Amino acid sequence: MSKQYALVIDDERDIRELLTLTLGRMDLVVETAATVADMLRSVIDEGTARKARAAGFTADAAGKTGTTNDLRDAWFVGFTPDLLTVVWVGLDDNQPIGLSGAQAALPIWTQFMSRALAGHANQGFDVPPGIVFVDIDKDTGKLATPSCPKVFREAFRAGTEPTELCPIHSF
Ligand SMILES: [Zn+2]
Repeated sequence: MSKQYALVIDDERDIRELLTLTLGRMDLVVETAATVADMLRSVIDEGTARKARAAGFTADAAGKTGTTNDLRDAWFVGFTPDLLTVVWVGLDDNQPIGLSGAQAALPIWTQFMSRALAGHANQGFDVPPGIVFVDIDKDTGKLATPSCPKVFREAFRAGTEPTELCPIHSF
């Protein structure tokens, strides 16, 4: 069974360019989707949507907040491997609501997803062949050493992962 993720992201230029660059090559689409999904998992685990975790949402999930100019629209798009939900909060007359995506849309998403997934076993994301996970130093973006204080694990297409060790926390 193949799984497909379609992501439209307004305020993340890097990710949009990544998709634009690679969508022309079908062999790279699965790997790109996996690396983008991995980036978006950190949004929920430790980024702008971490309040979902604080609210007790534990399933493996990825997502992105969105807020348009002048706080007119608040968005949250988030998905597990089996369920994608988009929440938009705004006014019909396009007046500002004065709330960000994390403030207005994320709590609705969290409550809906918690109920929709209740009783279902947590299902992790598939990792396709050709993806490697590497520990990265958060400050330098280089390969983490055992001395690096802030480390996160990130997915890369094999061959594109950093190879240089963190120069600040070397032995
Ligand atoms: Zn370091």
